[in-house]
Order: sequence, then structure tokens, then C-alpha cells
Amino acid sequence: MFSKVLIANRGEIALRILRACRELGISTVAVHSKADSDLKHIRLADESVCIGPASSSESYLNMATIIAAAEVTNADAIHPGYGFLSENADFAERVEESGFTFIGPRAETIRMMGDKVEAIKAMKEAGIPCVPGSGGALSDDADEIRAMAEKIGYPVIIKAAGGGGGRGMQVVRNPQDVVGAVKLTKTEAKQAFGNSTVYMEKFLEAPRHIEIQVLADKHGNAIHLGERDCSLQRRHQKVLEEAPAPGISPEQREKIGKVCTDACKRIGYFGAGTFEFLYEKGEFYFIEMNTRVQVEHPVTEMVTGVDIVREQIRIAAGLPLSYKQEDIKIHNHAIECRINAEDSRTFIPSPGKVKEFHAPGGLGVRVESHLYSGYSVPPYYDSMIGKIITWANNRENAINRMQVALSETIIEGIKTNIPLHQELLADEKVRAGGMDIHYLEHKLGIK
Ligand code: ADP
Repeated sequence: MFSKVLIANRGEIALRILRACRELGISTVAVHSKADSDLKHIRLADESVCIGPASSSESYLNMATIIAAAEVTNADAIHPGYGFLSENADFAERVEESGFTFIGPRAETIRMMGDKVEAIKAMKEAGIPCVPGSGGALSDDADEIRAMAEKIGYPVIIKAAGGGGGRGMQVVRNPQDVVGAVKLTKTEAKQAFGNSTVYMEKFLEAPRHIEIQVLADKHGNAIHLGERDCSLQRRHQKVLEEAPAPGISPEQREKIGKVCTDACKRIGYFGAGTFEFLYEKGEFYFIEMNTRVQVEHPVTEMVTGVDIVREQIRIAAGLPLSYKQEDIKIHNHAIECRINAEDSRTFIPSPGKVKEFHAPGGLGVRVESHLYSGYSVPPYYDSMIGKIITWANNRENAINRMQVALSETIIEGIKTNIPLHQELLADEKVRAGGMDIHYLEHKLGIK
């Protein structure tokens, strides 16, 4: 096992990783920007290193400085969390070349999954069902583009191979728009991701977003921890997640879970990972794989009892998985609300000083947050300030428990999206379960 881990992230996930390390008896190094010196996990870490100014590109995205911080503190491994450098294959490679362990899959795996065209190709070969589409990069030829869209059938969606975070996508409903949309997405993709490759998929009108959590070790073992439903999204970004997904039978779970673990074994995957699918009319369609821990991992932890971050660290250290597939049972129901510092209606970020913070508590309530009274939310980073997770013997009770937990939560001084969550939890369709990915935007009147 490692004796010291450097945490290359901030906020709630840095605290989550720190806690896992401490439980494993591993010393921790926190790295932070100048704007982040009063983050909660820094006070709990054994050591901390300031890695640069507020701007992410000069701090949390600065590979050389982060690796230098690992060198001066004599760390053994680097945990990248999510976002920032977590899915940057060059970073994973440089970390390993510098003599440290990257807590995540191999650099080549990250590189392949980061290029969605490559990822879809590999997944198809591994037997994963994919969305009907071009299956490869689109050419510049207008006739070919039109023929491809005709073959797939309108509406289609043009997606950037290097896209992420819900950006670099365009839906096309009319044949006369398709060539222009491809051109535009290519230009945007080049600017945003430095890769102009785009591909085409059938645009599914009312799918749900259901994803499978996997864990695989360096000895060829792979297990799945069931699914999460992350269909409540705004601008392709998740707002509220739950496990298990309403209406998915144990047989469906076993079947799709096995397809995913077989694919892991086939590509030699190790680490934690998520296969994201769109689910429509009883069928799963792969859209992408995330090669890191996800924001919504706690709902899976609550229904399986598996500590995903602990397993990630153990896997990276070369230890075998602590579980076999038959050890994994799904118990009860868990939901997670992402708490953002933003206006609940306009979604405009609301950084600033938190005058009062009182976390909720009680049976079946988990709070993952770096917030404390007197903490100032900096304006430079993502607006998520924490997550509240509740679980109970069934979905209805988990929702009721979340309503109570949110009503107890006091965050003064900044605006949060708690009113939006309260509205969602009281919504009849949300309470019934099985909403599609457009439901939230329809409700908000965006579409
Ligand atoms: P990103 O990496 O940016 O998150 P994804 O490929 O995971 O991109 O897609 C993000 C979201 O975009 C999905 O959860 C879904 O809401 C929507 N989406 C992507 N592909 C399709 C499709 N073929 N049909 C309908 N919606 C889609």
C-alpha cells in the first residue's frame, strides 16, 4: 500500500479522497491554488503545497507543478479526483514517467476513451450496444454527410470526438441543416477541444441516462456495482442522481453489467469506471466511458456498501478487488442532490462568503461538502459546493428523507439551487420515477 498520496483536486472530492486515505492509514498531500488556501481538506491534510494562482490553467491544470509537488513531498501516488486532469492521458503518462502511481487506468485507456470515436469502435468490438450512428469520423464531403444522416434517420446529433461536459453537440432535424451543422460543430470542436473530429448518432427523443459503475483490478478481475439513473439534467449536466434506476429489473442489471465487465476484461481496464448509456424502450445504447470516479458515486456506495474511492486506491497499489461479483447486492434506494452556489432560477453562479452553514443529519443522510461557516466560495471554479445523499428502504422514503434533509440545510450569504431540488422532489413525475433526459429542461421551460 502507498504511504503518501497527493490529491490533485479541490473541494468536496479532495475531502472525500483525503478521508479514504486516512482510513487506509495513508498520509496526504493537499495541493491548492492561491485562492483556495482555506479549503477544509487542507487543514486535515498532513502537508499542503500551493501550486499557483487562482486560474485553473496555472494551478489545478498545471501538470509540471503538481508533479513537482509530489517530488518535494515524496508522495507515492497521485489521485486526480474528477474534472481537471482526471481524464488527461498526458498527465497520467507524465505521472507514471516521473516515478509515481497514477490512481486511475493506464494512459492509453484514458486516451482511447477520451476520443469518443475510438471509444465507440472499441466498445462495439467488445460487444457493447451503441447508438446507431456513423461509427467513425465524418468526412467533409457534403453528399456523404447527407447520405449518412439519411441512412441513420432524422433527427441526428453531431458530436465532437473530443467533447466533454455536455459541450460540442448539435441536434439536426432537417436535411437542409445537416451539412452546416457538421461544419459548425467541427469549428467549435477544434476551438474547444483542439480536435475537429466529429461523428453522427441517431438523436434519441426520450431516452433515460443510465450508467453502470465498474471496478477492475490489475489482475484481470472486474465487477459491476449496478446502475445509476442520472436523467435529470440541465444542459447535459446532471442535477440529481439515484440508484438503483427505477424499473430496471435484476435480470436487466445482470445482463448489461456483465457486458460491461466483459468489456473491461477484454480491453485490460483497471480502476473505477463508468459506462454511460442512453436507455430507451428497454434497450441500452452506449454513449461514453468515464475513466475516473464520478460526482454521483455515493449513491452506488450507499446501495452496495462498497467504498469506491478506497477500492480505487487499493487497485492502483496493485491489490486485488476486495469483492467478487456475487458479494455485490443492491439494497434499498439512494438519491443525491448536487448543491450548487447559484441562483435556483437563472443558474447564475453565486460565489461569496458563507455566513452560516448548518448541515442536515439523521438516519440515512450523508453530506459530502467542504463548506463551513465563514468559508468563502471562490468565483474561479465549478459552482458545486457539495452533495447531499439520502437513502431509505425504498425510493419514496429516500425522497421524503431528502425533502426533510434539504429543509434542515442552512446556507446563508450565498444563493443555492436547494429551491430547485425541493421543487423537483415535490414533482409528481419525478416522484413516479423514470423521467427522460429532457424532462428537467421541459419543466424549466427551456425547450
Ligand atoms: P459529455 O461527454 O459531454 O457528457 P455524452 O456523450 O456523455 O457527452 O452526452 C451527454 C448527454 O447528451 C447525455 O446524457 C444525453 O443527455 C445527451 N445525448 C448524447 N448523445 C445523445 C443521443 N444520441 N441522443 C439523445 N441525447 C444524447
